[in-house]
Amino acid sequence: MTLYSIKMRASAKGQHISGAERIVPPEFVPACTDQLVTRGMTHPKGVPDEIHVRLTQLSESDVLELDALPVTTVEVDSCRDGLDEMRRFLLDMGICRADEIVTMLVEAEPMRGAMLVDADTLERLEPDLARGVRATYMDAERPNAPSGASKNHFAEAIVLATKVAHAPGIIAELCISDDPDYVTGYAASFDKGYVRISKLKPSGSARGGRIFLYRGDRGAVGDTILYLEKQPVVVRGITLPDNRCEDKFAFITDTLEDMRSRSLLRSLRTIESGQSAVVRYRGRDTVMLASNDYLDLSVMPEVKERAQAALLKYGTGSGGSRLTTGNTDLHESLENKIASFKGTESALVFNTGYVANLATISALMGKKDVIFSDELNHASIIDGCRLSGAKIVIYRHNDMEDLERRVRENPTAKGLIVSDAVFSMDGDILDLPRFTEIADRYGLISMIDEAHSTGVIGRTGRGICEYYGNSYMPDIIMGTLSKAAGSEGGFICGSQKLTDYLMNRARGFIFSTSLSSATTAASLGALEYIDAHPERIAALKENVDWFCECLRSNGVRADSGTAIVPIHIGDEQRAVRASEKLMDLGFFIPAIRYPTVPRGSARLRAALMATHTREQLLRAANAIADVLRQNT
Ligand code: PMP
Repeated sequence: MTLYSIKMRASAKGQHISGAERIVPPEFVPACTDQLVTRGMTHPKGVPDEIHVRLTQLSESDVLELDALPVTTVEVDSCRDGLDEMRRFLLDMGICRADEIVTMLVEAEPMRGAMLVDADTLERLEPDLARGVRATYMDAERPNAPSGASKNHFAEAIVLATKVAHAPGIIAELCISDDPDYVTGYAASFDKGYVRISKLKPSGSARGGRIFLYRGDRGAVGDTILYLEKQPVVVRGITLPDNRCEDKFAFITDTLEDMRSRSLLRSLRTIESGQSAVVRYRGRDTVMLASNDYLDLSVMPEVKERAQAALLKYGTGSGGSRLTTGNTDLHESLENKIASFKGTESALVFNTGYVANLATISALMGKKDVIFSDELNHASIIDGCRLSGAKIVIYRHNDMEDLERRVRENPTAKGLIVSDAVFSMDGDILDLPRFTEIADRYGLISMIDEAHSTGVIGRTGRGICEYYGNSYMPDIIMGTLSKAAGSEGGFICGSQKLTDYLMNRARGFIFSTSLSSATTAASLGALEYIDAHPERIAALKENVDWFCECLRSNGVRADSGTAIVPIHIGDEQRAVRASEKLMDLGFFIPAIRYPTVPRGSARLRAALMATHTREQLLRAANAIADVLRQNT
């Protein structure tokens, strides 16, 4: 019977993107060719501008049939352990220069072929050192229909390793894939089989390499290369079952391990009480310096009673989205209250602040539009911008000159400028006068996120517009009820036309069950409380001033006009250590690090409440200064 070799090679601008091959009977040729071309067209490295497919007829007698190498898997915890396994593999085989060989592999320059290396002298034996030796003309035996177009690293590696292990003069092979998502590699030989090593490089690294180790007559090297590059081989008996499942989730294991190694892995902390200036944490009273419940309203009796009464009257769930069954008089009262609190014609409530940003920005902007967004905007704004499909132009943080320059450079018929009003990780305040002026001058929609300004700045806590004397009004005010209002839910304030539009176009509003009665009533109660108690906002401001003063008198730089006081550290690990130490000392103050803030700008982020006592804040400031002094 005849067989066909099918080879596919995809490239863009002369650069290799992907290559793959099959050896199949004639009836599978069309389907396999189709699969290989699909693979070339859909490779993560990019879209090719050229795909070469070569079909070569082989006679069955030319094709060598080999049994797959037996497979063992070594699970390791780190790349270092993985490379040690490789060294051990070589030393066991009597290859003394194992250390140098593994270093050669790790430091290999990118090349498509493998290095052919003398196992004893470490000389390179292939004629073209830049090209290396390319083992080709091989496939797994396919008794049934051809398998799909996607790459199965494991099966392909066993085919190659089996062919190589049978090559004259080759005593071992080492391989680390250059696929950034595939950190597993192997060492293989005819005697020891295929030893799969679970981790040999960090996830995301495109560095990889392959070494064929040769021991034998130098005069026969040419025959070895001829076998590797031209001898057709079909490999029988590859079994995948237990590895398939493991590989499917390898990216999760790798990602978590990678995050852990860079001090970026997060885990949950369990609070054993309600949220207030002091919470129960790890079985003891801890001063809470991280809550966004700035006015301490989530445990306020007046607010809780409102939630309780609503719960008893309306029950627990709302039963549907606002446009179906989930709209009550309570929801409408809350929206009226928010609109009057913010001084706008209308307001619309969403289930969270995150959804309010996501749904609003993506409903307003589309592919042909341009969004100008501050580089430190909250993730929910960033995600909303991305979801909209609009062109996103990032401007320097709170830099209105840079914003205006970019607006001039990117003229658009329809556009949006969007910014946090108080920046969540730095606690600084948007230059609203210039922001609205630029939006008006260039005919752009202006939108601000008042998550951290509502209930915090402005004499009566109405936010950034009050802070600037109510002289500047953006088109859209977004806010959340989850912070100073001590409840849950996001909102959008603006014209009636705007909220009518969002009610009909914002998918996060339309397709989600509305907030429950208790939450809605709690928000209403909180806003009424804020209205009646401006002294609460003044107390918060006094606390922030006092805390910053205590820190400064301890030599720690600190300044804030809002409830957020960042204490800059820089290094992720140092910030995490400082936070852990402070938790041990009874102060709940988390480390904020990448991806919430840029890499290398980790910090402690203190968030103050109106109800902290001066004594608590003084003790906290002293403890922070002590820990920073010790933790260098
Ligand atoms: N915007 C900003 C600036 C925020 O800090 C947050 C919450 N971290 C949100 C929006 C999202 O609000 P919510 O928690 O209500 O989803």
